[in-house]
Amino acid sequence: MRSEGPIIGIDLGTTNSLVAVSDVGGPRVLPDEHGGRMVPSVVRYDAGRVVVGPRAKAELADYPWTTIASVKRLMGRSAADVRADQPYTAYRVVPGERGTARMAVPGVKGDRLISPEEVSAEILRRLKAIAEANLGVPITRAVVTVPAYFDDAQRQATRTAARLAGLEAVRLVPEPTAAALAYGLGLPKGGNGRVSHVAVYDLGGGTFDISVLRLTPGEGDEPFFFQVLAVGGDTHLGGDDMDHRITEALRGEVARWLGLPEGANELPEATGRQIAAQAEGVKIRLSDAESAAVRIEIGSRLFERVITRAEFEAWVAPLVERTIECCRRAMAGAERALADAPLDAVVLVGGATRMPLVRRRVAEFFGIEPYTALNPDEVVALGAAVQGQILSGARRDALLLDVLPLSLGIETAGGAVAKIIVRNSTVPAQATEMFSTQVDGQTSIRLTVFQGEREMAADCRKLGEFHLRGLPPMPAGVPQVEVKFLVDANGVLNVSAHERRSGRRAALQVVPNHGLTPEEVERIERESLTHAREDMARHRVVDLIANSELDLKWVGEGLARHRAALDPAYAAELDGMLADLRGFVDRARADWRSVEPESFAKAKEALDRASVRLQEVAIAASLRQPPTRGSVIGSG
Ligand code: ADP
Ligand code: MG
Repeated sequence: MRSEGPIIGIDLGTTNSLVAVSDVGGPRVLPDEHGGRMVPSVVRYDAGRVVVGPRAKAELADYPWTTIASVKRLMGRSAADVRADQPYTAYRVVPGERGTARMAVPGVKGDRLISPEEVSAEILRRLKAIAEANLGVPITRAVVTVPAYFDDAQRQATRTAARLAGLEAVRLVPEPTAAALAYGLGLPKGGNGRVSHVAVYDLGGGTFDISVLRLTPGEGDEPFFFQVLAVGGDTHLGGDDMDHRITEALRGEVARWLGLPEGANELPEATGRQIAAQAEGVKIRLSDAESAAVRIEIGSRLFERVITRAEFEAWVAPLVERTIECCRRAMAGAERALADAPLDAVVLVGGATRMPLVRRRVAEFFGIEPYTALNPDEVVALGAAVQGQILSGARRDALLLDVLPLSLGIETAGGAVAKIIVRNSTVPAQATEMFSTQVDGQTSIRLTVFQGEREMAADCRKLGEFHLRGLPPMPAGVPQVEVKFLVDANGVLNVSAHERRSGRRAALQVVPNHGLTPEEVERIERESLTHAREDMARHRVVDLIANSELDLKWVGEGLARHRAALDPAYAAELDGMLADLRGFVDRARADWRSVEPESFAKAKEALDRASVRLQEVAIAASLRQPPTRGSVIGSG
């Protein structure tokens, strides 16, 4: 090992830039001192001072002439090349040496000519400082990502920018390749190399890129060999265009609301600014929520409007269709090279791919569920960090797991974890279990996914949660929820839930092995051994409580309804058993240690057995279906 610090990974983006590192804990993004994980790629030149990142972005509208955004578009280009980009930038671009693009930034002593490399270097310097603050060592080397279509001049400019920032760019990696690497795609597993074909769909702030790659396991320092089978895209299509659609729609509405004769052109400038300032937030909120509210103050009047996701999707659908058209062309271009080989994966990259509409259309077009487990705006930086780790001498095969180090499961009612795939299972692994509800009329079920060996959710590591919604109200225990866990060959966990009676489905994707150190795995194992006996007893009691509650309810209700049809001695026997089991449940609820699990289970079984006759009477009365057995999951 060299004595130098780690090789960090940098995504130097058009809109946002990030820095990540990969070590024994797996790849992770390094946050700034405020916890921010992205540095907006925006630089402002004040007199004698440079402002980089969030503040420069926030104040862009106040300093349009001295703030440089999207400098990546100028890297390695001539002033003539970028003339077409001029309408997109407020700052002035002029020809410098040999016609190269320079920005003319007004200063106290007249215009100052600044090169794109210098601006990028400011961003890189900031990322270097963030990495050093996190890691506590000087950082001198980085893997920097570049678009797949960058030519020599653009790559050279990126290297120069790194050098100006005090970083050696030990490798420039194409962004789609980095994204694939973050998912471990193309890395050899279990000693066996395999060829994979991957499409990377990258929708950023102002650019769209689609790449089709072939990944072949590599040798030595090379994680894999990759071949670009096709690239495509649109250099002026991205999330910002979605913001503009919102702005345009709102400007029109506000103008009509104000009764302006000439429409949106007449809007006061301050109002236009307020609208524009809210557009991105609305778009981002609509990725999670079904609607988002807009409030615009115009003098003493307040314009209020709730935008639904459906409305927004109608506004931006043509933009999304343009990206799909690019995908169609790229796939056609790769057709011969693919020669009927199916795509192994589709990876989503770029903040704008958080939009549900984008995810839906991409899944439809490619016919496979895209990878979304890693944050789409972080995946490129994470992949660059993995490449950095490999280049600093880590073993490639040590980066990937072919067995699961920890069990995976979901939380059941009462807070226990039902393990679905147990530790040391070889990857790929798959398992399915049936669950049901605990409350009558439950229309939504929360599924929380955990990793770990302990029996209670509180002692395990939460990987994520999702909701199965829209269930028709049914009595507790009647819904049949099939929960499927699938860890694919790349270690990505897909959890899906399917309620059989209603056909409702929901799913979640996560990468379980990110961010766990070997020491943590060892500690988790050790703790699970220490607590094994107690944990198991507790799990048993918690499950007994949940399932007994259902029994008490069914039998209690059945008894109330059919008492007249029953032999009084039998009814009295059931009364006694109900009281007995109710006693166990109450005591266990107060303190799970106060009950003896064996006797608790016996009391429940006794009632189960004895109530068969009641069930027969009930069925004969063709009243209600028999209850579904198995664990129940919490209400959502
Ligand atoms: P780039 O690669 O161009 O630097 P990013 O990948 O960071 O860009 O993507 C930035 C874009 O993603 C912006 O337009 C931003 O508004 C958008 N974005 C970020 N988060 C979300 C979200 N939750 N929903 C929709 N769009 C989002
Ligand atoms: Mg990007």
